[in-house]
Amino acid sequence: MTDLATYAAYPDKTRGRRHQEQAPIGRNDFQRDRDRIIHSGAFRRLEYKTQVFVNHEGDLFRTRLTHSIEVAQIGRAIARNLALHEDLVEAIALAHDLGHTPFGHAGQDALNECMHGHGGFEHNLQSLRVVDVLEQRYAEFDGLNLTFETREGILKHCSVKNAKNLGDVGERFIKRQQPSLEAQVANLADEIAYNNHDVDDGLRSGLISLEQLVEVKLFAENLAQVQTQFPKLNDRRLIHETVRRMINSLVMDLTRQSQANIAHHHPQTIDDIRKLPALIGFSPEMQARQAELKRFLRKNLYQHYRVNRMSVKAKRIIRELFDVFISDVTLMPSEYQDRSSEDSARAVADYIAGMTDRYAIREYQRLFTVSEREL
Ligand code: MG
Repeated sequence: MTDLATYAAYPDKTRGRRHQEQAPIGRNDFQRDRDRIIHSGAFRRLEYKTQVFVNHEGDLFRTRLTHSIEVAQIGRAIARNLALHEDLVEAIALAHDLGHTPFGHAGQDALNECMHGHGGFEHNLQSLRVVDVLEQRYAEFDGLNLTFETREGILKHCSVKNAKNLGDVGERFIKRQQPSLEAQVANLADEIAYNNHDVDDGLRSGLISLEQLVEVKLFAENLAQVQTQFPKLNDRRLIHETVRRMINSLVMDLTRQSQANIAHHHPQTIDDIRKLPALIGFSPEMQARQAELKRFLRKNLYQHYRVNRMSVKAKRIIRELFDVFISDVTLMPSEYQDRSSEDSARAVADYIAGMTDRYAIREYQRLFTVSEREL
């Protein structure tokens, strides 16, 4: 690693872990966090969870696992440009989606509705809950016992009401402070990753077309560059060349603008970073382009009638699973039953949120259809 900026996060100055442990040997504390995340069960399940498309729709579409790896890749590139701690950015990136329900946003919305009156459900808080409580793999503590810096990065947003129950990682939402620059980088790397791969997956699925995308400035500008340089490319290569240039232009804009912001505020330490406004960001011009792309995707992809059909089915599955488990917790595996004595709705939410798309579909079939084989 190149020399770190003085205001980067330093593993030897971590605010520590919830349960004290000896410093790792042969790796730093952020590497240890990253390694624990990769070895968790929730991380492996990301392979069978989706963002927009249901998992079995096609093998080429992104899953939450490949998405998280792309976020880590983009985040590390930005971190290196800005002399920030790459291992911390990577750990946050790989963990940021661990709390997602099956079936993407439709699943999260349905589970949140089910949890109305029981404290609600929010994937961001759930990601923290996975690494703090739900993973049970270590002899001496629940969860993965990650450093404060990784946990703070995972908790991207949070209401003040929820923040009050979260102890140290909740404080910044009450004090209106910023997290480390590494957390800010991971957050924007997430945006860069999903906007661009949704363009790619959207085109591959046929739900959006090149002709439609030309309305979007960021896409049109990069497409024109590729077409001028390579006039005879087939669509597949043309799309990939355009998307990779879009990612590159976003990363470079973010790097330049963030360098300028840092130079303007000249922070010295991570404590300064927490008190300053967010320093990682796009230029106003790029911010507008990115917002235009988001609006396009919302209107033409996320609200496409074929996506809506999947979402309606997904919501029904989540709701019916929730209703059946809450009416009889003994239908859940024993570890969730045990947890249900404390708070049965939360135990059901934990069980459902942990399911992959295909597990939820199978569980639904097992509970609501009768096959001769089972009888
Ligand atoms: Mg994400």
